[in-house]
Amino acid sequence: MPELENFPSLGWADICARLSSPLREVLERAQQTLDGSSLTREQALLLAHAEGDDLLGLLVAANEMRRELAGNIVTYVVNRNINFTNICFVGCKFCAFSRGPRESDTYFLQPEQVAQKAIEAWELGATEVCIQGGLPHGLPPFYYRDILRAVKGALPRIHIHAFSPMEIMYGIELTGMPLADYLSMLRDNGLDTLPGTAAEILDDHVRFILSRNKLTTEQWKAVIRTAHGCGIRSTSTLMYGHVETPEHWVNQLLLLREIQSETSGFTEFVPLGFVHQNTILFHQGLSRSGPTLAEHLKIHALARVLLAGSINNIQVSWVKLNRQLSQLCLSAGANDYGGTLMEENISREAGATAGQYTSPEDFQSLILEAGRIPAERNTTYTRMQIKLRPEELVIQEALEPEFA
Ligand code: SF4
Repeated sequence: MPELENFPSLGWADICARLSSPLREVLERAQQTLDGSSLTREQALLLAHAEGDDLLGLLVAANEMRRELAGNIVTYVVNRNINFTNICFVGCKFCAFSRGPRESDTYFLQPEQVAQKAIEAWELGATEVCIQGGLPHGLPPFYYRDILRAVKGALPRIHIHAFSPMEIMYGIELTGMPLADYLSMLRDNGLDTLPGTAAEILDDHVRFILSRNKLTTEQWKAVIRTAHGCGIRSTSTLMYGHVETPEHWVNQLLLLREIQSETSGFTEFVPLGFVHQNTILFHQGLSRSGPTLAEHLKIHALARVLLAGSINNIQVSWVKLNRQLSQLCLSAGANDYGGTLMEENISREAGATAGQYTSPEDFQSLILEAGRIPAERNTTYTRMQIKLRPEELVIQEALEPEFA
């Protein structure tokens, strides 16, 4: 479907006459209200199953809604990923990062070593560290707290984005503390925000195929709601392109909307494409071979439409995508490029080839090439600094009418 790659050149007026009338009606309503809650579940499912011209219509409408809701700025955060260990007993079948304790290439960082990596990142201009890792048996019960103390002790102003809901559940098990008390303790020791990872697909039938030992849907929801209640905001995620169906996407996006209406705690939504190459899930024939181009584009667009008015930052996970695809997703509803990630082990182990690090200058070029305005942000999107080099000021002028 070559036209799929060229959809950014289409406007709503070019495509609307080619759409099936029920889908056109849904997309017109979404663009008028700029509020995903104005659509029914059935209408959301209609969008999730869009193909051919209807899919092009969804992508174009999502791009128009992005322009209204998030403007033409594309943000990114300068950060470093620190994966403190690759030893993990959980055994998720989609994960190629984890190792058994007796494998030859395991590693485990002490809190002081994590802090040292954070210092290196801070000195290179990072404002955030994203800290996650495997779950080894016998972890010191207060290891996560001690990482926070070590990093904040060295760098009081760095933003710590750390510990997935799975790690939070493990911390509770290790310490015996109630969930809210445990999260409050982490917050008081420097935890700023939580990655909304370990969500994958929030459906226990799918979760059981992906990983028998992972936290349940109810546990994920409890961790996120409690964290938000403790003042710890989080991202929200969905992993696509494995065994799930479009209905799972819709259910998850509606669930995230529901939580957001209660807590306002989500900073953004991040679709995570399944990287299949080195995974047991794929090699056992349990999953498809990652997302198609249509799926990559559709999930970003669907998220923009269904989350409109609820979660208005839609992030491209560039480590899972190539350069051209990540730029295309920016035209399918996304407005954020995520983090520069000075170190990215998890997707690389699974077979992703986008690399470990994209410099802020590379981000700026990618965003400018896509005809948008680059801006460095902080983790919670409360501060933004537009980045344009002097020779690009002409482009700024060309983009100015978009602000009118
Ligand atoms: S995804 Fe996380 S919890 Fe699952 S096996 Fe990999 S490191 Fe362990």
